[in-house]
Amino acid sequence: MRLYRFGQQGKERPGVFLSDGNGVDVSGFCSDYDEAFFATGGVDSLSRWLKENSSHLPQVDTSIRLGPPITRPSKIVCIGHNYRDHATESGRQIPKEPVLFLKSTTAMCGPNDNVVMPRNGLKLDWEAELAVIIGKRASYVPKETALEFVAGYTVFNDYSERSFQLERGGQWVKGKSADTFAPLGPFLATHEDVPNAGQLHLWLRVNGELRQDGNTSDMIFDVPTIVSYVSEFMTLLPGDVIGTGTPAGVGQGRKPPIFLQPGDVVRLGIDGLGESNQKVVAWESRSISSSSS
Ligand code: ZN
Repeated sequence: MRLYRFGQQGKERPGVFLSDGNGVDVSGFCSDYDEAFFATGGVDSLSRWLKENSSHLPQVDTSIRLGPPITRPSKIVCIGHNYRDHATESGRQIPKEPVLFLKSTTAMCGPNDNVVMPRNGLKLDWEAELAVIIGKRASYVPKETALEFVAGYTVFNDYSERSFQLERGGQWVKGKSADTFAPLGPFLATHEDVPNAGQLHLWLRVNGELRQDGNTSDMIFDVPTIVSYVSEFMTLLPGDVIGTGTPAGVGQGRKPPIFLQPGDVVRLGIDGLGESNQKVVAWESRSISSSSS
């Protein structure tokens, strides 16, 4: 099942992309894809409900803005240096344990919204990632059962302001958390649509030029390991997001480094999870409206 949210920012409604590709409004079933939805078995009951109701649901116009496929997670947890080639380009050792950092939840936006360069930002960079959406409260979960705690997967761009991240002292969170730094979507794909999250091609283009071209099979720590590991250090709640790290090809890793400028267009995608597209805009002309409208 492919869950998505549509409508103006802050007023999104829940939808489902049916197998024919058409989007339908399911706000007759639930108010939103939030913690309560996942915690109460919403995915399974929605799937059952759709079997009865999908033929007479309101269709969603394809021109309507997409929001992130979930709302208000309690946290966005990210894994750093989780692909060998990216660790190497960052000049780091292969980590012995997953590197964790947090990203502000206010960074979330729709998959095709503009990305806004933050005020005083100089080094805006991209990171195509597979995001895991948690489906059940997870604390001290063993690796063997960790996938039972996952609701599904989506496309994530872990935008990073490298000067804030690396030159301003303290933790990476400063360079990861600006508004629009976490576009998610186009949709959350549940398990049956993603039989093997450990073998997905992911890619990213800047102005049409291929910059990242990786596969989740190159992750140092796979999804079950990550979910289990994070749950040792904090309780994951339904709807929480985990960014699983990015392959090589970020701007910071190039010699010399290159960074995004206003007007640049970033497009990324993952096998079976669709594509997203962000236009870079300067702080002055900040806009969270969709770049495609
Ligand atoms: Zn990242």
